[in-house]
Amino acid sequence: MIPKPLIDPYQRHLSYLRISITDRCNLRCIYCMPREMIPKLEHSAVLRYEEILRIARVAAGLGITKLRVTGGEPLVRRDACDLLAQLNRLPGIREVSLTTNGVLLTERLDDILAAGVRRVNISLDSLKPERFAVITRVNCFRKVWDGIMAALDRGMAPVKINVVALRGVNDDELTDLAALSLRYPVHVRFIEQMPIGEAALQPVRPLLTPEIKTLLAPLGQLEPVPASANDGPAERYRIPGAPGEIGFISALSHHFCHRCNRLRLTAIGGLRPCLLSDYEEDLRTPLRHGAPDEALAEVFLNAVRHKPAGHHLAEPRHKEVASAMSGIGG
Ligand code: SAM
Ligand code: SF4
Repeated sequence: MIPKPLIDPYQRHLSYLRISITDRCNLRCIYCMPREMIPKLEHSAVLRYEEILRIARVAAGLGITKLRVTGGEPLVRRDACDLLAQLNRLPGIREVSLTTNGVLLTERLDDILAAGVRRVNISLDSLKPERFAVITRVNCFRKVWDGIMAALDRGMAPVKINVVALRGVNDDELTDLAALSLRYPVHVRFIEQMPIGEAALQPVRPLLTPEIKTLLAPLGQLEPVPASANDGPAERYRIPGAPGEIGFISALSHHFCHRCNRLRLTAIGGLRPCLLSDYEEDLRTPLRHGAPDEALAEVFLNAVRHKPAGHHLAEPRHKEVASAMSGIGG
């Protein structure tokens, strides 16, 4: 197949595909999933690994160089590490990373490392075990913490810690979370809560980056970290002298759409050009009807043609995103 780069109508070059491999999860974070079990996707609806690999191969032929495996919780899917290894072997793919809640990290670490994955994002919204249990609805702080420590011990880098800033829930410990970067070489990233999935149903006033920065004032003046080519959407800082970093992902208050280089593949084969819009192209149907690679590539090109210039969530009369975050992958 002749590679055609994925360039959208706003001249953004798309080189990063995030792949949700399951909508299932062993936690039920209050902003992501309802308390009760939601009807899970039919097993047959979810892409099989060979289907994900085929899509990723087509994507690599179109100039995708970076993949991130996410979920739901990717590590609850059987043989997820085999998939990581196979994705890492695809020609053209330079990096495969993982986003996980960390619960199964310690026990899967050997396989994750053997698969060639070095970059991991772990979600951690509280350092207080009881509060962690309220946020995730599961009492397993220790497992996640041990997973973070194990990832650091085994030399994973960067280890990023994703913290969703939750007004009235964890806003009193954001400095403690940021201060982890003083003790460990971790990148602690504060994420504004987006009105998507479960959070779209809650009448909360999200904690925005300017307010988060004010809450972090006791840590002193933060030094900006110079931007590098591989930077994602995070605005990066360091507490002077710290081995780690602090980042802010401000999807609402300072959206970074103008430099967004991402596409997302949902667990059931939807290709989404924007996390914050429900528009998606269906890859699963053509895939299961024997479409050649060229036809799948055409689906990618079509999705890219529909990538919006930006989202409208900051506008007062915006439409919420109906899809569940767990099926898209964050
Ligand atoms: N289960 C894995 C985890 O929690 O890291 C991967 C999937 S999760 C959907 C990916 C990321 O999305 C997590 O860091 C999570 O905190 C974040 N997330 C989920 N719902 C969110 C929301 N409404 N606003 C902002 N971030 C959200
Ligand atoms: Fe599960 Fe991640 Fe959603 Fe929490 S944020 S419920 S860990 S998918």
